[in-house]
Amino acid sequence: MNCHEIHPMLHAYVDGELDLMPSIEVDRHLKTCATCTGMKRALESLRATLRNNDLAYRAPDALRKRIRQSVAATIEEKPQRTFRPWVWQLLALGSLGVAIITLMLQPAANSYQNRLADEAISDHVRSLMPGHLMDVVSTDQHTVKPWFNGKIDFAPEVKDFAAQGFPLIGGRLDYLDNQTVAALVYNRNKHTINVFVWPAKTATATATIQERRGYTVINRDANGLHYCVVSDLNAKELQEFGNLLAQ
Ligand SMILES: [Zn+2]
Repeated sequence: MNCHEIHPMLHAYVDGELDLMPSIEVDRHLKTCATCTGMKRALESLRATLRNNDLAYRAPDALRKRIRQSVAATIEEKPQRTFRPWVWQLLALGSLGVAIITLMLQPAANSYQNRLADEAISDHVRSLMPGHLMDVVSTDQHTVKPWFNGKIDFAPEVKDFAAQGFPLIGGRLDYLDNQTVAALVYNRNKHTINVFVWPAKTATATATIQERRGYTVINRDANGLHYCVVSDLNAKELQEFGNLLAQ
């Protein structure tokens, strides 16, 4: 199959709707064709973006009411005329416009926070798979801190909080918010706590706490570093731990 034959099938391929044979054909073609692979990646990322629940946004009730009223007014004005297809097209375009505008009005910060939290939770979950949690296993802060030397371009604060019930158990490198970050691993009554650390971009002292998918995520800046703390530990104890970190 050549590119022209593959292109119309890519949408169905990405959606997993192709039958076995065509799907094998597309697979085979993608292995050798960078152009089609690029198109496939673009479709996949579009699909992922659309699935992200941040994008699902219900128009405010007042806006819905206004649209209904203006549609009703149009119908009343010309009662004897049939509703032509172009009217529907216009309405569809109008609602698409409204959807795009509402998306743009959405607070960007909020969606950034949610994306960051989701990414941190994914990293946390991945770290719990066998063999992924730690690259340096040590309860000694003086062993864990130097381990990061030369691996990242900043020096994370590494403290052990065993005395407060949160022992340090190790560290590793991870990837979050489009950068390599230090991941410090702590323990609390068999709950694993991941602390992702990277240089703070802004100097905000306020901590944000989010509860998502059964996990608690705390983001806060302290001493020029950003801390993103993730665990399935309850929010109260995790906050206590977050305060220790920021001291
Ligand atoms: Zn191709």
